[in-house]
Amino acid sequence: MADDIILGIDLGTTNSACAVWEDDKARIIPNAHGDLLTPSVVAVDDDGSMLVGKAAKQRLVTHPKSTVAYFKRFMGVDHKVQIGRRKQFSATELSAMVLRSLKADAEADLGHPIKHAVISVPAYFNDAQRQATRDAGELAGLTVNRLINEPTAAALAHGLNEEQEQRFIILDLGGGTFDVSILEYYDNVLEVHATAGDSALGGEDFNDNLIRAFLEEIGVDEVSLGMEIRQRLYSRVETVKRQVGKNKSALLSFDIDGKTHEWTIDEKAFIDATSKLLMRIRSPMERALRDAGLDPSAIDDVVLVGGATRMSVFRSMVSKLFGRIPRTDTDPDLTVVMGAALQGALVARNESLEDVVLTDVCSFSMGIASVTDTDPRKMTEVFAPIIERNNVVPVSRVEQFWTVQNDQTAIDVRIYQGESRKPRNNLFLGNLHIPVPKGTAGKESISVRFSYDVNGLLEVEVTVDSTGRTYTKLIENRPGHLNDKEKAASLKRLDGLKVLPRDREEVRALTARAERLYSSMLGAERDQLGRAMDDFER
Ligand code: ADP
Ligand code: MG
Repeated sequence: MADDIILGIDLGTTNSACAVWEDDKARIIPNAHGDLLTPSVVAVDDDGSMLVGKAAKQRLVTHPKSTVAYFKRFMGVDHKVQIGRRKQFSATELSAMVLRSLKADAEADLGHPIKHAVISVPAYFNDAQRQATRDAGELAGLTVNRLINEPTAAALAHGLNEEQEQRFIILDLGGGTFDVSILEYYDNVLEVHATAGDSALGGEDFNDNLIRAFLEEIGVDEVSLGMEIRQRLYSRVETVKRQVGKNKSALLSFDIDGKTHEWTIDEKAFIDATSKLLMRIRSPMERALRDAGLDPSAIDDVVLVGGATRMSVFRSMVSKLFGRIPRTDTDPDLTVVMGAALQGALVARNESLEDVVLTDVCSFSMGIASVTDTDPRKMTEVFAPIIERNNVVPVSRVEQFWTVQNDQTAIDVRIYQGESRKPRNNLFLGNLHIPVPKGTAGKESISVRFSYDVNGLLEVEVTVDSTGRTYTKLIENRPGHLNDKEKAASLKRLDGLKVLPRDREEVRALTARAERLYSSMLGAERDQLGRAMDDFER
């Protein structure tokens, strides 16, 4: 039985969490510190051990160079992050370390090994980013049974609490991403009508804008700040941002080079400082409504997910747009992981959930590059979508294409995903070289079939219509995707790292917190804390 358990994981930009399905409900598993959220932060400490989660996050301020956060933004791209002086990691490897830590917490809690997981990803993750997430799971020793879109997971957790049939929009504003989904729940079917999002917009951007406004207010040049001061300011602003939401206004007081600067942030100042971001929040909502063919008034419920939806300016903007107060009865931080655990139970065919059916949509268009005209002077290359975004998955579609030149001997099928008319502005996924019999232009044709499955994996099948020969390709040469050799090398590297044992993490997090406080204190307070730290370490 234990072997069948599928861990539900929310691998967030800022925070991650894991949960299991027990007694017909999701139970969130606490980490070594007893917290339900584990910061998605990785650090190398002074003796070369890797730290993950709370202990690593505490070091962001005191050791910014040997700590990394927000690496989810680099998933699926060829980019290595430097930590400390020597170590370099890809976002996939860093995510694998977070997953390993969650897995260890779950195993300690449940008392047996865990092999399977369902991991949530932003709806707007493209193919490369999805594959990187799967790779991370594998590097953590987990078989990833399913990837689930975060808003879909949230809807799943939310929808099952609902008695009535209804249509709702899920708004998930996390640390670095904004996801919007419109869903309908009826007769135990949860149907996704549309998804949209902005993969580079989240609560952290609000911090950045507030910092910029503060520095402008006090007349300090941003580039003159050292990394440590910046990080310290960042965590101050994080606190103040939360206070504004709660008390409508807060005082940001901050020391730079011995001088105290103060700025009172009320809601108006908050809106002024972040107006560009607030404007960007509108467009994914409007696009999702348009794609679903719905007016805001057709939405029965607005569900908020993700820590940054706690901002009062966000809430009032959403209330205005939809003409109703958003729902907040599900915990915005934990809804996604609960949905992932539920999906895990669905995959494992847990009997209590037999009746729930889930349909999902693909969040981007996929197609090939094609030419508009047979006249070489007028020929321009355009992107011809075969599967359009927001189709229900699994989906399979076929389109025909013809030769454009006399005596053409082959057609190069180049596969892209994205929404731009220009192929080169979209993400290139791979190509197929299809030999065709010679003839006059327009005589030979190929049928290109795209099949897209629930995990977001694309299969392309091309048939030469005159001969019936078929060519298939499972898209594999994704940027950032690891081949077997790279996977083995990565695994060896990760296995070779020293990781702090779970039971010592608590102590380490405490020391790191003390160090952080120490760096922000002065005078007698500082001396006192210093002495306490010396005692503690002895
Ligand atoms: P992710 O899904 O990206 O991991 P979360 O859903 O955990 O992110 O949200 C993290 C973001 O939520 C951070 O940017 C944090 O500043 C913000 N946040 C958390 N609590 C609050 C709050 N009370 N008020 C405003 N922002 C908050
Ligand atoms: Mg999230």
